[in-house]
Amino acid sequence: MIRGLLPLPIAKDLDVSEPTSCCRALGTGGAYCHNCDLLVGLDGLHVTDVRRDPELLTVTVESAPAPAGCPGCGTVAEAHSRRAVRLVDAPCFDTPVVLLWRKRRYRCREDACEVRTFTEQVPDLVRPRGLLTTRAARWAITQIRSEHASVQGVARQLGVRWRTVWSAIKPILTAAAADETRFAGVAILGVDEHVWHHVSTKRPRTAGAGRRS
Ligand SMILES: [Zn+2]
Ligand SMILES: [Zn+2]
Repeated sequence: MIRGLLPLPIAKDLDVSEPTSCCRALGTGGAYCHNCDLLVGLDGLHVTDVRRDPELLTVTVESAPAPAGCPGCGTVAEAHSRRAVRLVDAPCFDTPVVLLWRKRRYRCREDACEVRTFTEQVPDLVRPRGLLTTRAARWAITQIRSEHASVQGVARQLGVRWRTVWSAIKPILTAAAADETRFAGVAILGVDEHVWHHVSTKRPRTAGAGRRS
């Protein structure tokens, strides 16, 4: 056993002749797989498929079927269709991840209502018309702030272009910069000292070059 890892708990009544796939429920009752949902960890969404290519992990998710109220009149709408929305999520297991969100569309049956159809909303999943999930954008900001990653480096890990990352994180950074509450409780502001040391390329570098004098 690897040091530092605890042995996995095994149910005593486990039938060893039975497969132990975590997704057996999909073949028996159409239920969602709790383990896959736990692994992906998106509130309100369930995993229905996972595909792994050499350079990409594609996770298909959907919300559980549930009654939806029309935003115009409040009556219960009927299911209309689905549309696959492609979102870039935070990388997982050293691989870029794409979410295929099978977004539900509903139709209002009230003749007098101006809302004909509308799509479901999952709070906190993605900004309107965004390409990166909210957690992918937050992950990118953490990489840049705390791990000294460049935007280009983060883009490479996400499998997208520089501009895609920047458009996703810029609104979050702008909102954070404008938030005055970040100074709450701060009594003293310190400023780091920056020292530039110019070394001529025309003369050989000495042992002391690069050191602060
Ligand atoms: Zn599973
Ligand atoms: Zn309506």
